[in-house]
Amino acid sequence: MANFNHLAAELEQLKKDGRYRPLTVWQSGSGSWMELNGRKVLQMSSNNYLGLTSHPELQKAAIEAIETYGVGSGSVRTITGTLAIHDQLEQELAAFKGTEATLVFQSGFTTNQGILGSMLGPDDVIISDELNHASIIDGIRLTKANRKIFAHKDMDQLEQRLKESGGFRSRVVVTDGVFSMDGDIAPLPAIVELAEKYDAIVYVDDAHASGVLGTNGKGSTDHFGLHGRVHIQVGTLSKAIGAVGGYMAGPQVLKDFLIHKARPFLFSTSQPPSVAATCLAAVRVLKKHGGGLMETLWGNANYFRGTLQKLGFDTGASETPIVPIIIGDPAQTMKVSDRLLEEGIFAQGIVYPTVAMDKGRVRLIITATHTRDDLDFAIEKLAKVGKEFGLIG
Ligand SMILES: *Cc1c(COP(=O)(O)O)cnc(C)c1O
Repeated sequence: MANFNHLAAELEQLKKDGRYRPLTVWQSGSGSWMELNGRKVLQMSSNNYLGLTSHPELQKAAIEAIETYGVGSGSVRTITGTLAIHDQLEQELAAFKGTEATLVFQSGFTTNQGILGSMLGPDDVIISDELNHASIIDGIRLTKANRKIFAHKDMDQLEQRLKESGGFRSRVVVTDGVFSMDGDIAPLPAIVELAEKYDAIVYVDDAHASGVLGTNGKGSTDHFGLHGRVHIQVGTLSKAIGAVGGYMAGPQVLKDFLIHKARPFLFSTSQPPSVAATCLAAVRVLKKHGGGLMETLWGNANYFRGTLQKLGFDTGASETPIVPIIIGDPAQTMKVSDRLLEEGIFAQGIVYPTVAMDKGRVRLIITATHTRDDLDFAIEKLAKVGKEFGLIG
């Protein structure tokens, strides 16, 4: 029988579990206050950390690029899809990151797929933190390399995995720089030391650290002063950078290799020129104003997290602008999220399978564009709803 009954059955199950979510459709662009079904709600779940999605210099660059180059690149990078604007973006991005080279992909997701799917073979091993992002997990699924997992940030276990890996041609330790669901930072100095002891490559995915950690938002490697000791940095251009895209920052030899072997690079059309131009403008804005924007971002984040903790909320391991409120039960988590929306706050519930079944949470992301009034409004509503659900006393 040609039908979709098994899909319908799975959706029914999601509904029973309270995990079925229709898409939320917004009537305004990304920002701290957004229009939803005719009312303004406070946005607390966007990755637009620095407000760059609507920065005038980025908007101007996008419009100018459309006027100069048109709206599409016409091809994959390896055929006719590398325009001068793509090349310029990679050069300025490499100078910003302080690496030999960068290579830009269509998204952070395809960057991880492209690198992990091509760089390693059956003689190699990849050692991955258990809480790494889905795009890393999927990238690892694509490789013929051997795989080992270490418990989240557990350096003893990482050392154990490295000890077991002596026989492989190369060892790659991969970690998120900032973990997206908990908002904690990878122990990069300890990872680098172990990698050096066991002759391993260090690969850090800075999707949530780009524009958030390090001088002017250069990321976790810069934050910890580890220049030259982290071999592969992945960044996204989709979160704090305000547009969409991803990149590898690392050695020229890896760039040259990926140009010949990374499948999303070879078989999927490059970023539209307006997007590349937007990202280039973002890099320039970061160089000029990144420090100031980040000071506001971190001031807001620390104020907000500290206040929630004083009220008695469980913010888990958060130490960045990602501030989860741990609730536990998936259905209860979604109810809290819905109640907050009634009160004018958009705070996405995150449940299994994105996090463990008993680790449901509403995940709040603080940005530089939130005012203190915005944060106080959110805190007041969170306290009210938190009491209703018995999350705080
Ligand atoms: C969001 C995210 C990605 C994906 O980036 P996109 O540019 O949105 O595709 C990759 N890795 C991590 C750790 C992320 O948080």
